[in-house]
Amino acid sequence: MMTFPDEPCFYGNGFYIVYIFCMVRCSIICVGTELVTGKNLDTNSPYLSREILKLGYSADIILKISDDKHVLSRTLKWILKQSECVILTGGLGPTSDDVTKDAVKDALKLQYVFSQKVYRRIGRYFRKRGRPMPENNKVQAFLLKGSRILNNRAGTAPGCIVEKRGKVIILLPGPPAELRPMFEEQVKSYLKRKWRVRVYQRIYRLFGLTESGLAEQIKEHEARIKELGCGITYLAKPNLIDIILTGRKNVGRLKKIADELEPFFQGHIYSRSWKSLYETVARQLKSGNLKLALAESCTGGLIAKTMTDLSGSSAFFLFDVVSYSNKAKENILRVKSRTLSQYGAVSRETAREMLDGLEAFLTADLYVSVTGIAGPSGGTPEKPVGLVYIGTRYKRRTIVEKYFFPGNREYIRDYSLNKVFELIYRRIHDIH
Ligand code: ATP
Ligand code: MG
Repeated sequence: MMTFPDEPCFYGNGFYIVYIFCMVRCSIICVGTELVTGKNLDTNSPYLSREILKLGYSADIILKISDDKHVLSRTLKWILKQSECVILTGGLGPTSDDVTKDAVKDALKLQYVFSQKVYRRIGRYFRKRGRPMPENNKVQAFLLKGSRILNNRAGTAPGCIVEKRGKVIILLPGPPAELRPMFEEQVKSYLKRKWRVRVYQRIYRLFGLTESGLAEQIKEHEARIKELGCGITYLAKPNLIDIILTGRKNVGRLKKIADELEPFFQGHIYSRSWKSLYETVARQLKSGNLKLALAESCTGGLIAKTMTDLSGSSAFFLFDVVSYSNKAKENILRVKSRTLSQYGAVSRETAREMLDGLEAFLTADLYVSVTGIAGPSGGTPEKPVGLVYIGTRYKRRTIVEKYFFPGNREYIRDYSLNKVFELIYRRIHDIH
């Protein structure tokens, strides 16, 4: 019997082995009126599509649907014509707006069976918490006949897997805290066994390139990649791109392609595994025993938040001054009022003096300052929205860079965040 690694397993020569769904089209449907109205953000589909991508496959269709049994049932019938595997999230609870199970039952013409075992399990869940079991939770013990039950260790709604006429329908609860362990511990292993094909994969995680610029540069290579039966996938975020090369059989062929492409990535690769830029930079700061001080303006603490999201960040993160107002820049960071009036808060000079202010405050190894216009208001023809200055000081050398970042307020702030991490990486490695 073959064993399946949980994560992509390292093969050597920069390649990973992953197991993909063989010729399987996969879709994700997130059920919930709160998702469609924009009241709640859908985080389940990004999580699921990312996880199945790690298995080597990506979703073709991702939909959000309100808690409407008929719409869901009709959509499911349609989507089952396009996909071999459909993952549904949400609507498994006990209330009248939880309609997913009913919709699947109708669409697939299934029946319910009552499970004493699941009923007892739900009872135990409430007893453990010292609460009586509400009568309506009983509906969660009615299961789709012939389905495989997925235990829910963080809640009451069991998930399930239905196999019918060569199709697979997977029902998962909506709350991420329930869905994620269920997917991780039960669904992943199922998917790996259900459709298994071994593929070779090489990952490049890049910063400082745009997706369209890179695609333009490598478009001739892309055509050849397809001719050779290999695949290339792009995943883009502000300032960051993941390139995933996959090939089914001939690892030598894939290596040749990778060797041809690598010169285009030179100076932009921060990782060749799934490690994020944030983790990569944190590891470098930690291993170099480097201490970091920040002065943020337009990012409003976002960089400090991201730094301190990383466990063990106290080893390298000293402090942040969120000097959003000119007053704070003047009184805390000692930016000269003449500098502010002559050059403005968003200027090379201010970014530099913010670094001086940090250094006067407390000694660190690396100082970073960010000042910019995130918009939507505040831009002028000379200083448009998206103008951001980032200063870094490391080993007594100060560099202030000027950028024009695209997009809206959130995008510009995310771009600034990821650019700061890129610059820290570059300063530590002395690459420019
Ligand atoms: P419950 O038993 O809690 O009712 P459920 O499986 O019926 O679980 P829903 O009622 O659809 O799930 O959603 C419950 C909560 O889970 C939502 O209020 C929301 O906070 C969260 N949730 C649902 N779907 C998503 C999603 N796609 N992304 C992020 N959170 C979600
Ligand atoms: Mg619910």
